[in-house]
Amino acid sequence: MNHSLNIFWEVDMRKSVVPRNKHFTFLVLPDGARPVLRFRVHTFILAMLPVIIVLLIAIASTLYLLHDRARGQLDQLHSKLTSTNEAYTSQLAKKEGTIKQLQNELAELAQQAESVELRVEELNKLESDVKSLVGLPKETAAAESDDTGVGGEFVAVQDADIVDLAHDTGMIFSSLGDEISDLRDRLDSTKEQAQKRLQTLRVTPTYWPTQSQRITSFFGVRMDPFSGEAGVHKGIDIAGHRGDSVYAAADGQISDTGTMSERGNYVTITHAMGLTTRYFHLSKILAHTGDRVQQGDIIGEIGSTGRSTGPHLHFEVVKHGVSVDPRPYLKMAIKGSSANVQVEKGQD
Ligand SMILES: [Zn+2]
Repeated sequence: MNHSLNIFWEVDMRKSVVPRNKHFTFLVLPDGARPVLRFRVHTFILAMLPVIIVLLIAIASTLYLLHDRARGQLDQLHSKLTSTNEAYTSQLAKKEGTIKQLQNELAELAQQAESVELRVEELNKLESDVKSLVGLPKETAAAESDDTGVGGEFVAVQDADIVDLAHDTGMIFSSLGDEISDLRDRLDSTKEQAQKRLQTLRVTPTYWPTQSQRITSFFGVRMDPFSGEAGVHKGIDIAGHRGDSVYAAADGQISDTGTMSERGNYVTITHAMGLTTRYFHLSKILAHTGDRVQQGDIIGEIGSTGRSTGPHLHFEVVKHGVSVDPRPYLKMAIKGSSANVQVEKGQD
């Protein structure tokens, strides 16, 4: 199909002098019997056409530039977002690693807390043992635990478990802090008491004066081995061998030594708190009047001198001038300070 376009310049002359309504008429003449198409365009529009085209081009260019710039910014943003995302992912991975490490350290810390608890229990027991050793009254013993076995299936830890563990561990350490503080105070006090106790024991006739602790005749009224009549025995007789060492029962000063018909060779020691000890029937005296002696020092040897039926030690404790039973003092002795042996029997 062919069309031909004819442009006619038509001037509207209806208005005189100044033409106001100028138009261009465009005719489209199709081939055949089709009707002619006619377009009228005002000259103003035609005149404005280049301006419109320039404006359209300017707008299009501006839009293009804006679009281009927006696209650039978008690309930049996308790139920035990607790198930020990568950085966050990396940080997250690091933080997860750190959290895992902290969880493991917390678990180790919890184990250490249990271990410290056990050590504190051991210290409590040790304190109790020390008190027992020096004869101090004990407090209620801490419960002992011998559980050392471990095992069971592995179950992955949950956040809530970790929070609980951290809380429990914190509580354990908090209570351990208090307990250790109490224990330190108690140990200071126990040490002081033990020192006082040991000092008291040193100046009190608590040390067995012979290695043997076998008593052959007790303190008090008894049948006299020589006369066969009732008499008062002012000390105890401890069995022993001739020549066995005789020890000072407490720290003190030798106040008398000598030989008497009934006592035989004897030693007297004066101690603190109005106490005196006497050692009779010695085969040998190994101390001098005025000597300072310490508990356990050798002052003589067992014998059977004086009024005696065989080798033994007659041991007396005198308190403010009155003979008393030595056994309560000797029972205060720290265990293990001397031992039993097989001995000869003797009395006076
Ligand atoms: Zn006796």
